[in-house]
Amino acid sequence: MGNAGAARKAATGAYVPSDVSPNRRVQRRYSIRLWSIRHARMLEWFYARFASAFLLLHPLWKAIGYSRAEAPVTFVEKRVKGLLFDCRMCGQCILSSTGMSCPMNCPKQLRNGPCGGVRANGNCEVEPDMPCVWVKAWEGSRQMVKGDAILNVQKPVNQSLRETSSWLRVTAEAAARNEIAKDTAA
Ligand code: SF4
Repeated sequence: MGNAGAARKAATGAYVPSDVSPNRRVQRRYSIRLWSIRHARMLEWFYARFASAFLLLHPLWKAIGYSRAEAPVTFVEKRVKGLLFDCRMCGQCILSSTGMSCPMNCPKQLRNGPCGGVRANGNCEVEPDMPCVWVKAWEGSRQMVKGDAILNVQKPVNQSLRETSSWLRVTAEAAARNEIAKDTAA
């Protein structure tokens, strides 16, 4: 079928990843990305429990050393989130605020909503065959309990955090907050 199949699909308006884009997306991965957005509510529920479990393991991370745990946890995080979200490992995950649509897949890597170039059909101006990452983010956020977090203003990307684990960072920050709260209460 090859290119003819892709051309037929494109004629229907369906997104057909070229696999030669700067991000080298592939069809299978893109389909899973859309699945994750469609199931944003379930993933939000799951992530809340996962984050709590990770926080419970804080004594373990502390004993191992957060810096020593970094490489193996990053290895796993990259593969799991790569599969589910086409994660680009920015190291400062905001999926919970973007309807489970990773903003780093926007060709302009915008983290505070779409640019002014979204096409009338909701597709990207840079990659005309791809639905805008932020249009999908809005759809995903409407299914989430805390979906209005999409309205929060996000900080610019800190490029020095690339290829580091968001899971560990969020855990370390939450543990530090808990310890401060405990000290204040004592
Ligand atoms: S926001 Fe960053 S860490 Fe989260 S999925 Fe996207 S690239 Fe990965």
